[in-house]
Amino acid sequence: MSVLVSNRVLSAGRRRHTLMSVRRSVPALYLKSALGTSTFSPKEKDYSIRLPTAFALVAGSLLGGYCLGTSHSNQWNELNKNRELPKGERGCCSCDGASAAAPRREFTEAQRVLPEKLAKIVGKQHVHDGLVQSSKNIQFLKGARLGEGSALAIVQPGTLQEAVKCLQEVVDAGCVVLPQGSNTGLTGGSVPRNQVDRPAVVISMKRLDTHFPIDDGNRVVCLAGCGIGKLATSIQKWFPDRESHSILGSTFLNPTTAAGVAFGSGGVYVRKGPARTDRALYCKVSKNKWGENVVTVVNTLGIEGLEDTDFQEGSGENAVARLDVYAKDVKQGYRRVMAKSSKSLHGLAKSSDVDYQNRVCECTNEVSRFNADTVGEDCNRSEGKVLILATVHDTFPAPSKKRMFWISFPDIETCLAFRREVCLNSPEDLPISCEYMDRDSIDIIDRSGRILTYMIRILGTGDMMGLMWGLKVAIEGLPFSFAPVICDKLMHMFNNWVPSAIPNKFIQLGREYDHHCVVAVGEFGDGNLDRFMDRFDAFVRKYNEKQIESGGKVISFAETASTSEVTALNAFRFVAAPAFKTFCIGEDIQGVSVDYALAKNGGLPPLLDKDAATPLKRMRYSHFGCNVVHEDIAYALGVDTHKEKMRFKHIVEDLGGKLPAEHGHGTEYHAPKETQTRWMKMDPLNVMNPGIGGLPATEKYAQ
Ligand SMILES: Cc1cc2nc3c(=O)[nH]c(=O)nc-3n(C[C@H](O)[C@H](O)[C@H](O)COP(=O)(O)OP(=O)(O)OC[C@H]3O[C@@H](n4cnc5c(N)ncnc54)[C@H](O)[C@@H]3O)c2cc1C
Repeated sequence: MSVLVSNRVLSAGRRRHTLMSVRRSVPALYLKSALGTSTFSPKEKDYSIRLPTAFALVAGSLLGGYCLGTSHSNQWNELNKNRELPKGERGCCSCDGASAAAPRREFTEAQRVLPEKLAKIVGKQHVHDGLVQSSKNIQFLKGARLGEGSALAIVQPGTLQEAVKCLQEVVDAGCVVLPQGSNTGLTGGSVPRNQVDRPAVVISMKRLDTHFPIDDGNRVVCLAGCGIGKLATSIQKWFPDRESHSILGSTFLNPTTAAGVAFGSGGVYVRKGPARTDRALYCKVSKNKWGENVVTVVNTLGIEGLEDTDFQEGSGENAVARLDVYAKDVKQGYRRVMAKSSKSLHGLAKSSDVDYQNRVCECTNEVSRFNADTVGEDCNRSEGKVLILATVHDTFPAPSKKRMFWISFPDIETCLAFRREVCLNSPEDLPISCEYMDRDSIDIIDRSGRILTYMIRILGTGDMMGLMWGLKVAIEGLPFSFAPVICDKLMHMFNNWVPSAIPNKFIQLGREYDHHCVVAVGEFGDGNLDRFMDRFDAFVRKYNEKQIESGGKVISFAETASTSEVTALNAFRFVAAPAFKTFCIGEDIQGVSVDYALAKNGGLPPLLDKDAATPLKRMRYSHFGCNVVHEDIAYALGVDTHKEKMRFKHIVEDLGGKLPAEHGHGTEYHAPKETQTRWMKMDPLNVMNPGIGGLPATEKYAQ
């Protein structure tokens, strides 16, 4: 048996001994860790005491909660009829009208036999029934915040060729396709919806999680299901002086690289920008002149040995098959010569948002990034309108030194001046990240997010955290009426039994001030950390001297003293979104969430107009450098939250802001005309993720 390795044929016996041309300092073992099997070795984290404690806590809570839940279920039914939670129990936005009731469909013969056909491709154990929601399939059928529906089947391909074959079978059977990653999307676009006129099949890409470096580690190839959490860990292990491209608030749930591209997901890194690449392998569906469905594979990977021109027509060989061979070798731990970018146009194309550092520092009335942006290869911001198989991403230099500060400001204007004058002063000296939280954010995270923060601190952001999240989702899918809220009720109830999840020096500042930034700064080799610190010192000194003279409140800050403090602050910020939901459920109130980008030169909180209902809490937290804001607004029962949310969206747009900024349109936001037109060109039949961004869900977009 032989396989092609970088254009050379190696025998199975020889390939084990082929040396990689990785940097010498990198352990040759790195291909093994690409499997993710060694991501958390017992040496790195000692769970021996912590895990049983964590499980005991969860199990005890669940038992208590079950008793509590059953006794409260009538009360809950009554309450839930008329309220909206930030997770889509009731449709809330511009283009939904969500309903979870499975429609009664008559299936065609082709559809009836489809699950069997899919099972022949991927194996029986990787095809699940999705017609009736249960705790086994709910993780695929219900969105993290919004949307739910049923599917004729859920299929999990294990190779790229299987994914392409499944796609062909699904469209040939007259079904629509729901490409899915980790299903952490917040806007309903990752799950089937019952309003669609054809049965849906979820193609979950999670099994395709292989990733490997190219170009001496300056880039990485990720199959669609590779999680960004695992990718970050692998890059750190293989190339300690490099970093991966994205860290999101959901990194602890390991969202996928492909979905990041499909949404243009952003996250915390100011220096790196949103997920973007013009180098990918992806599928489009169209019809040929004979009316047959055609799945076309577009290859812009730009890798030597994987270019379309490397394969002779009719040879049966192609990039999909060869990438499968590469991935299999990586999975099995074989060592191979590291591939290189080709010299073709694809090989020279962008594999990150290369100009972002400059753009983000411009002080204009444009926004830094938003989801409706139409630039780049079709895979970017395609929201499931193409099926992404693999992508190439740049890696980035890791800082040689890092410092992290919690900085508290007496007013938002000073906070904005700090952003302008200190953080965004020059593209070279940008901080690593700069996360803003207002007083209500601190209050709510501290009131409802302690348990989750501790869990992330203890379990890290790997498989174990994913398992716990999966458990929560499964519990929420259990067939008793209190199930959807039981975990949040318990987390809210027991929250104050545990101490604050971040060290005292930070939470004290959080309680004293209204505006806070958690800023991470790094040294990238030319003195930029010192320059940042000089600007920071000068800014604080100048401001505080004035304040002391006038008797006003000064800027205060505290620095992290250990890695565990850094983890604590990151975890505290990352649980903001789930903590808001826990808070609303715990307090028996309603809530809505909005994701928007404000102009680079703006940033004051949008003023609610005089007719607006008064919120109980207004939680604003943002990727401050990029001016991408997440606003979670809590209302008393009885308020028409849909009306309030629509009103708020208009206020943001009137300010020159754009919605959504990074969470994708999904079924929640209407996309502008040019974005819709772009998607319709990618998917003329409307078989891929129909109904997103306000597009009709009907075949060929029929009105
Ligand atoms: C607690 C929490 C915090 C979050 N914080 C952030 C944040 O800071 N920044 C941010 O940007 N987002 C954030 N999110 C949203 C979410 O995590 C991101 O959008 C993430 O990129 C989704 O990845 P996923 O693998 O879960 O994708 P999914 O939810 O499975 O899918 C997302 C979209 O991508 C499409 N898709 C998935 N895989 C493919 C594929 N292979 N081919 C084509 N289309 C595909 C789906 O059809 C869907 O439209 C957060 C979510 C949570 C729950």
